[in-house]
Amino acid sequence: MNGSVSEKLTQLCGKPLERATDREVYLALLRLVEELAGQRVEPVRGRKLYYISAEFLMGKLLSNNLINLGLYDQVRDCLERTGHRLSDIEELEPEPSLGNGGLGRLAACFLDSLATLNLPGDGIGLRYHCGLFRQKFADGRQTELPDPWLTDEGWAKRTDTVYPVELAGTVYQARLYRLAVTGYNGGTNQLNLFDLDTVDESVITGGIAMDKTCVDKNLTLFLYPDDSDEAGRLLRIYQQYLMVSAGAQLILAECEARGCTLHDLPDYAAIQINDTHPSMVIPELIRLLEQRGIGFDEAVDIVTRTCAYTNHTILAEALETWPRTYLEQVVPQLMPIIQQLDALARTRSDDGTTAIIDDRGGVHMAHMDIHFTHSTNGVAALHTEILKSSELANFYKLYPEKFNNKTNGITFRRWLLACNPRLTGEIESLIGPGFKQGAGQLEGLLPLARDRAVLERLGGIKRANKEDLARWLEEKQGARVDPAAMFSIQSKRLHAYKRQQLNLLYLIHQYFEIQAGHMPPVPLVSIFGAKAAPAYTIAKDIIHALLTLSAVIDETPEVRQWLQIVFVENYNVTAAEKMIPACDLSEQISLASKEASGTGNMKFMLNGAVTLGTMDGANVEIAQRVGEENIYIFGQSSGQVIHRYDAGDYRAREWYDADPNLRRAIDFLTGPEMLARGSAESLGRLRDDLMNSDWFQTLPDFNAYLVRKGQALADYAHDPLGWQSKCLTNIAKAGYFSSDRTIAEYDRDIWHLG
Ligand SMILES: *Cc1c(COP(=O)(O)O)cnc(C)c1O
Repeated sequence: MNGSVSEKLTQLCGKPLERATDREVYLALLRLVEELAGQRVEPVRGRKLYYISAEFLMGKLLSNNLINLGLYDQVRDCLERTGHRLSDIEELEPEPSLGNGGLGRLAACFLDSLATLNLPGDGIGLRYHCGLFRQKFADGRQTELPDPWLTDEGWAKRTDTVYPVELAGTVYQARLYRLAVTGYNGGTNQLNLFDLDTVDESVITGGIAMDKTCVDKNLTLFLYPDDSDEAGRLLRIYQQYLMVSAGAQLILAECEARGCTLHDLPDYAAIQINDTHPSMVIPELIRLLEQRGIGFDEAVDIVTRTCAYTNHTILAEALETWPRTYLEQVVPQLMPIIQQLDALARTRSDDGTTAIIDDRGGVHMAHMDIHFTHSTNGVAALHTEILKSSELANFYKLYPEKFNNKTNGITFRRWLLACNPRLTGEIESLIGPGFKQGAGQLEGLLPLARDRAVLERLGGIKRANKEDLARWLEEKQGARVDPAAMFSIQSKRLHAYKRQQLNLLYLIHQYFEIQAGHMPPVPLVSIFGAKAAPAYTIAKDIIHALLTLSAVIDETPEVRQWLQIVFVENYNVTAAEKMIPACDLSEQISLASKEASGTGNMKFMLNGAVTLGTMDGANVEIAQRVGEENIYIFGQSSGQVIHRYDAGDYRAREWYDADPNLRRAIDFLTGPEMLARGSAESLGRLRDDLMNSDWFQTLPDFNAYLVRKGQALADYAHDPLGWQSKCLTNIAKAGYFSSDRTIAEYDRDIWHLG
C-alpha cells in the first residue's frame, strides 16, 4: 500500500482520526478493505468454480479481512494511537448470520480457503434481509426475533446486473449483490448474492412471522422461512429457484464473456451443489441450454460434467422431497425436464428406489443430483462409508466411480488467528509463522508435548482466555463463572441427534451426587450455545429443561460451588469465537452414525480443547490422529446403532426400568424442584419422550458417558501437565482439518480449476 495505514485512513475519513467517531472509522475501514481487495482480483483463465449454497454463515468480516490483507496489526496499532479500539469498532459491524450451522459455516470457510489458495471460485446464494433468527430467553424459554443485518453501508455491494426469473408465471428481476472474499496472502473472489428490489421488511408481522402470500415483498426476507404450512413450503421453492435461476444465468453469462460456446461449458465452469437446496440448478441449466439451441441429450451431458453434489446428512428428514404439485405450481417450466430426467434415470436402473419421481409424486432432489452430476461426496470418512453401504447403497451400485469423500475443514485464519491471538502468538514463537498457510506444520509442536515450560504457558493462555469468556458472559447476560473451574462446552444447533439431552441427564445426575456428598474432582462449568428450529418442540423442551436446571442449581449453594450451567443466548459465529478458545472439554456426543462430520469438533481441537465424544463423523478421524490417550471416546459404535435401527428392537423403557441412576435423572425432570420453576407441559413431554421413545438412543450411552466424563474431570484435576500435553497434541494434529486441505482435495479430485 502506498503511504501509511494512518494516512490512508485519515484521507478516507476526511479528518484526523483523533476527531473521527468509531462509526466514521468503521466506514473508512470498509472502504480501505474494498479498495485493497479490489487490487487482488485476478482475471480467470481456465475453469472457475461456482459454489451454490442456500447458506453462507459468514460471521463478521472486518477483522478477518484485515488479517487476510496483512493489515490487522498496523490498523490495530494505528487506532490505539488515535484513541480508538478495534474491538469497539468490530461491535459496530452487523453480523451476517445467513446460515443455520455447520453447513453454512462450511461454505464460508471454503470461500476463505479458495481465495487463500488463489483458486478462482465464487459463491452463489441469496441476500436474505434477516439471517437466522435472534434467540432471546424469556421465562426459561427460547423466543425468536428477526435479525436484520443490512445497512446502507456494508460488505455486499449492489450491482446493475439483474436477471429475469419466472416464478408461478410471474417474472421477477433478481438483482446481483457482490461481496468481496479476501484470501490470506491470496487473491480476491466474490460471493454473489441475489435479491429483489421489492422486498419489504414491513410485511413482518411480529417476531419472525410474516405475510407469506406477497412473494415480491417477502421472497428473501428470511433464511428458511417457517415451513410448517404450505405457504411456507412453497416459499422455500420460490427462494431455491430464484437462487439457481439467477445463478445459472450469471454462470452462463460469465463463461460466454470468456469465449465459451456452451458446448464446452465444463471447460469453463465447475458447479458444486451444496446439499440439495440448489438441486434445481440441474434442470434449470438444461432449460437454459435448450433455449440456446442445444439438444436435450447434449445438455444433460454438459450439465453432468459441470456439476458435482455434496451430501451433508443421512437424516431422512433432510433429504428433500418436494411434492410434484408444488413444483408444477412454482416452476412449471422445469417439470417437463424433471420428467425427462426421471425417464432417463429409469432406463439406467430398474430399481424403483433410485427414481427421481416416486409413485406418490414426490420429487427426490438428491436422486436427481446423483444421477446428473459426476461426483457425489460425503463430508467425513465414516459418513461416506455409511452413504455407500446403507443410505445410498443402491446408487453406489449404479455409480461406484461417482462416490468420494471430502472430510470437512475449517479456516485457521478465523478459528485460530482471529479468535485466539494468544495461542497464535505462542505457536508462532515455538515453530514460526509457516503454520498459518501450511497447517501441517503444526506437527512441529509434537516434540514439545513433554516440555514443562511450554505446557505451563499453554495452561496460562487457556486460563487467560477463560477469564475473557467469564468477563464476556457477565457483561452479556450477567452470568458469573469461576475461571478456575473446568469449562466443558457443547455449542451447536439444538437437535435430538446431537444429544444435548445426554449432557442434561449427566448434569442432573451430578446434582444428586454432589448433594449426596460425592464431589467431583474439580468444579465444572457446563456451557451451552444452541438455537432450536422454531417449530421443533422437543428441541425447545431441552432448552427449557437446561435453563430450568441452571436456575435450580443456582439456588442450591452447596451444588453451585461444584456445578454451574450457563446457556449462552443467541449462539452465532461471534459467540463461537469467544467460547471456543476458552474451552477445556469439547462435547461432541451425537449418536454414532448421525453426525455427518461436525466442524465444531475441529475448531475446539485447534484451540487446545480435548474432545469427549462418540465415534461419529469426523470425531473418528480426530481420534485416529491424536491417539486414544488424547481423546475421551465413549458409547455405541455406528455399526451397533445401525444394527439396532434395522432390528427395530430399541425400547427406551427397558433402559429406564433397569438403571436406577437413569430413572432418578429422568424422573427429576418432573420432580418438585423443576416444576417449581419450569413448565409442567414442556418438562413432562421431554420426560415422556426420553422414557418411551428416545429415537436417538440417549439412554444406552448414559453410563458410558458418566464414566468417561468422570475420567476426564479426574485427569484434568489430578494431572494438569498431562492434560496440557493432551491439549498440545490436539493442536499439533489439527492441521489435517484445515479447509485449505479440504479445498485442495476438491480441486484435485473434482474441480480441476485454473
Ligand atoms: C462451527 C459452527 C457450527 C457447527 O457446529 P457443529 O458442532 O459442527 O454442529 C454451528 N454454528 C456456528 C455458529 C459455528 O461456528
